[in-house]
Amino acid sequence: MTITRCIACGLRQYALSSTCRRCRAEIGISIVEIPLLNEGHLEHPSQSSLQFGQVLRRMRLRQGKTQALVAASGRLGRAHLSRIEANLSTPNLDTLLRILQALGADCLYVRLRKQPSDPAAEPM
Ligand SMILES: [Zn+2]
Repeated sequence: MTITRCIACGLRQYALSSTCRRCRAEIGISIVEIPLLNEGHLEHPSQSSLQFGQVLRRMRLRQGKTQALVAASGRLGRAHLSRIEANLSTPNLDTLLRILQALGADCLYVRLRKQPSDPAAEPM
C-alpha cells in the first residue's frame, strides 16, 4: 500500500482516501495564510509587516525537507535560507518566489476585505 505525507500537517499515512486522516485537508494540496498585519507591526512600524521566515520554515519542516534541499532547489545558499527563516534577512521577490516554488507552491492568493472606510461599504 502507498504511504503518503500530508503537506498541510506533515502526517505520514496510508493513501486510503483523498483527504488527510488528521487535518482533513485534501491530500497533496495545502493553503497557507500569511497575515499582512501582525501585532509587532503596530509597535515597531519600521519592521516589515510580513514575517515570512517562520511560515517558510514551518512549510519546509512539514514536508520533511532539509534547508540544503530547499536551498539547492531554489538556487540560493543554505546560509541565506537559514537567515531568511530566522527573519534576519528579507528575501527579494525573486528569491522568495524561488523558495516558494522549491516548497511546491504553484499559486498565490490575495484576500481582499471591505474596510469600514471604503466608500463601497457605505449603504446605498
Ligand atoms: Zn494533514
